[in-house]
Amino acid sequence: MIYIGNHLSTTKGYEAMGKKESALGGTTFAFFTRNPRGGSKKEASSEDLQALKNYLDDHGFGPLVAHAPYTMNLCSDRPSVREFAARVFREDLAGMERLPGHYFNFHPGSHVGQGVEKGIDLIADVLNESLKPDQKTTVLLETMAGKGTEVGKTFGELREILDRVRPELRPVLGVCFDTCHVWDGGYDIVSDLDGVLQKFDDEIGLDRLYAVHLNDSKNPLGARKDRHEKLGLGCIGAEALRRVVTHPALQGKPFILETPNEDEGYRDEIARVKRAMLPKDGGGEETCQNLKK
Ligand code: FE
Ligand code: FE
Ligand code: ZN
Repeated sequence: MIYIGNHLSTTKGYEAMGKKESALGGTTFAFFTRNPRGGSKKEASSEDLQALKNYLDDHGFGPLVAHAPYTMNLCSDRPSVREFAARVFREDLAGMERLPGHYFNFHPGSHVGQGVEKGIDLIADVLNESLKPDQKTTVLLETMAGKGTEVGKTFGELREILDRVRPELRPVLGVCFDTCHVWDGGYDIVSDLDGVLQKFDDEIGLDRLYAVHLNDSKNPLGARKDRHEKLGLGCIGAEALRRVVTHPALQGKPFILETPNEDEGYRDEIARVKRAMLPKDGGGEETCQNLKK
């Protein structure tokens, strides 16, 4: 069983996203909790959310992985930007609570020159103020590529954020593993996926890994560029990505495609990821050749 899907637009409503994902062959999806570059938030209607809940149950969907807007920087050096970000975080988390049992993923933030330690403190402050032990949403810190002053480019930085969150809040906090970002951040998932996941386990704990962003990268290992590529057309490549989706430690997690595609491209990638999971498809070299097509 694999939960695979892509990022969808909320413009036609929530139930519509479920139906759209099914039409693409997927069993999970991602969406922005508000305009990714803007500020305003449109609340979903209760009827629409209920209809989506029913749809997900009826069609065997895995957890959804909502994404916070890119503008939300919890560790900006400007207090007004931080306050806005903290408000967005709380409002969007409250919105997620209306669809219980799913994931809310966010970029930890960019410290814009204040230093990683200061950034980590500011991020943890917001988490300590905003998370609730009894919330129904799991909040995920995303592994980052390390572009600019991004916090979260190493497993150690994410671990430090988790460590600074009060123990009773840690159960509602986890990590989303972005293959393009960890690769760009210098973790060699091509020649040593086992080693990278072991490192993740040592520094964070694999029990904290809730979701995967499945992307190829336009750039070589450690480039810190964060430019996603279609599966099998980038520097990570089909074979290594196949090992990711079939890795025992990652089974049952939702895999979200954030590749540069339109609907047809996503439909194709979803089908290929599902084939890679089927033992009858041959696996190994043959499947990888198909993945490269
Ligand atoms: Fe992201
Ligand atoms: Fe991502
Ligand atoms: Zn990215």
